[in-house]
Amino acid sequence: MAYKISDDCISCGACESECPNKAIKEGGNIYEINPDLCTECVGSFAKQQCAEICPVGAPVPDKTHPEDREALLAKWKKSHPGETPKVT
Ligand code: SF4
Ligand code: SF4
Repeated sequence: MAYKISDDCISCGACESECPNKAIKEGGNIYEINPDLCTECVGSFAKQQCAEICPVGAPVPDKTHPEDREALLAKWKKSHPGETPKVT
């Protein structure tokens, strides 16, 4: 399941550079996560880096994008061609 950023976001920008998949960008009023790129950090880290660094807990699971671990890993492999996942 991809993560999304809730309206609690204060647009501090801290999460953008932490995402291993470059899934986070500045949006209109808040930062946004591209669900086609977010893998819940599967493939790179054991914990969701955006949620870990966010001072207000804005990144949360996006229940409209249900995916199992296999699907998340396949997504990771697509955006990291030729690389070996660090966390499966
Ligand atoms: S959960 Fe991980 S992959 Fe998804 S947006 Fe956050 S940092 Fe990026
Ligand atoms: S770290 Fe949290 S508050 Fe800062 S831009 Fe990201 S989601 Fe928004």
